[in-house]
Amino acid sequence: MAQEFPTSAELERLHRVVIIGSGFGGLFAAKALKKAPVQVTIIDKTVQHLFQPLLYQVATGILSQGVIAPPTREILNRQRNAEVLLGEVTDVDVEARTVTHRVGEYVTTTPYDSLIVSAGAGQSYFGHDEFAEFAPGLKSIDDALELRGRIYGAFEIAELLDDPEAAEQWLTFVVIGAGATGVEVAGQIRELSSRALRHDFRRINPADAKVILVDAGDQVLASFGEGLGERSKKALEKLNIDVRLGHTVTGMDAQTVELTDKDGTKHVIKSNCKVWAAGVSASSLGRKLGEQTGAAVDRSGRVATLPDTTLPGHEEVFVIGDMASLNDYPGVAQVAMQGGKYAAGQIKRRLSGNPDAGPFKYFDKGSMATISRFKAVAKVGKIELTGFVAWLMWLFIHILYLVGFQKRVTTLGHWAMAFVGRARAERTITAYEAMGMADLVRARQRADSEIFYEPRQHDDG
Ligand SMILES: Cc1cc2nc3c(=O)[nH]c(=O)nc-3n(C[C@H](O)[C@H](O)[C@H](O)COP(=O)(O)OP(=O)(O)OC[C@H]3O[C@@H](n4cnc5c(N)ncnc54)[C@H](O)[C@@H]3O)c2cc1C
Repeated sequence: MAQEFPTSAELERLHRVVIIGSGFGGLFAAKALKKAPVQVTIIDKTVQHLFQPLLYQVATGILSQGVIAPPTREILNRQRNAEVLLGEVTDVDVEARTVTHRVGEYVTTTPYDSLIVSAGAGQSYFGHDEFAEFAPGLKSIDDALELRGRIYGAFEIAELLDDPEAAEQWLTFVVIGAGATGVEVAGQIRELSSRALRHDFRRINPADAKVILVDAGDQVLASFGEGLGERSKKALEKLNIDVRLGHTVTGMDAQTVELTDKDGTKHVIKSNCKVWAAGVSASSLGRKLGEQTGAAVDRSGRVATLPDTTLPGHEEVFVIGDMASLNDYPGVAQVAMQGGKYAAGQIKRRLSGNPDAGPFKYFDKGSMATISRFKAVAKVGKIELTGFVAWLMWLFIHILYLVGFQKRVTTLGHWAMAFVGRARAERTITAYEAMGMADLVRARQRADSEIFYEPRQHDDG
C-alpha cells in the first residue's frame, strides 16, 4: 500500500511551522498549509476552534457550546502534517526561535522555523478591571456559560421575591457597549424575556424585564456608519430596549451601574445582571514580541507589523488577526482568516523559491449584525441593507462558516426552534450557576444593610 505523505520520518526533517492560536487566523493558516512540505504545530490554551460571532447565542440559550466550538484536533484529524497541542503560550524567544507553553505544571518548549502568532484579543475594561467581576465580557465559552447562568438565574431569583423593587433589580439587564456584540446580546435578552420565557413563570412577568444598552459614543453600531446606526437604534427602541448613548460607565458594583452623561450628571441604575461588550485588548504576547523585535505596540496591545505581517528583523515571525495593527484593518474574522492564508502562502512561496506575494491586502467582504429574529443590518461596500433580507444574508453566511455539516444541521434546527417557534434548546443552568450570582450580590451588600433579598416564605411548608 502506498505510504501517505508525509511519513513520520519525513515530518521530522521538514520545515517547522508553529501557529499560536486555533481561532480564525490560526486555523485558516494551518488548513492552508495542508499540502505544503511542512510540519505544522498549532498550540492553543483551549482545545477548540471557537466561532466567536455566535457566542451570544450560547449566552442566551439558543445554541450549545459544542456547535460553535468543535475540537481543533477533530477539525485537523485528517491533515497528516498537522498536530495540535494544548497549552497557554507564556513566552516566545525570537532569537532562539522557540515557544514556551504550559498546562498546569507541564511546561513544554517547541522550536520553530516559521511562527504564525494569532492569539487574538481579550476584553478591555478601560483601566477598570474591577468591573469584570460584576459584568463579564463575551470572549470565550467560559464567558458565555457564565452569562447564561447569570441571565437565566436572574429570572429564577426574581420569581422568588416578594419585594417588587428587589425583583425589578434582578430583571434589569444592562449591556455595556453598543457595537455588534452589545446589540446582539441586548436584542436576544429582549426576545428571551418577551417571547421565549413568556409562559414559564407564575409570579413574575418576564416581559417586564428592562433591557438597557449603554455606550459612551453617539451611535449604535459605529462601524456601520451613521445611517445604519440610526436605523438600528430605532429598531432597538421599537423592541423596547432603552438605548443610552453618550453615557460612560464610571462605577459599578454587584447591584448597580453608575453612568455619567456628557454634562457630567451621574445616573445610577439598579441592576444585578450586567454584560460588558465594550473594549478589546490584544493578547499580552504582543507586548513580548514588541519588546524583542522593536515593533511598536498600540494602546490596545496590538503589534504594528510590516506590510507583509512579519516583525522587523524577523521575516519568519508573522503576527495576524486581532493581535496585529496594519493599515487600520478592523478586528474582524475575515481579516484574521485572510491573514492566516496569506502567512501560509508566504511560507510556501519561500520554501519553493518563489518571490514574495507583496504586502498583505485585506478584501472587505462586508459586515453584519443581528438585532432580533428576522432583523439584521448589513453593509457590503456601499450597499446598506436592513430587516429581513439582511437577516437572511446573516443566516446564510453564518451557516456557511460554521465548521462541519452536522453542526450546520443542528444549528439550523435550533434557529428554527428559537426564531420561528419560541423555544430555547440550551437553557439548562445549574443551581450553582444561578446561586453564584445571588451569592455575589449578597456578599457585596453594604455591611450594615439587611440581607438584600428576602426569599419568599412558602405557606404550604
Ligand atoms: C462576541 C464576539 C462576536 C464577534 N462577532 C463578529 C462578527 O459577527 N463578524 C466578524 O467578522 N467578527 C466578529 N468578531 C471578531 C472575530 O471573532 C475576531 O476578529 C477573530 O476571532 C480574530 O481571529 P484571531 O485568530 O485573531 O483570534 P481568535 O479567533 O480570538 O483566536 C485566538 C486564539 O488564541 C488562543 N490564545 C490566546 N492567547 C493564547 C496563549 N497565550 N496561548 C495559547 N493560545 C492562546 C485563544 O484561545 C484563541 O483560540 C466577534 C468577536 C467576539 C468576541
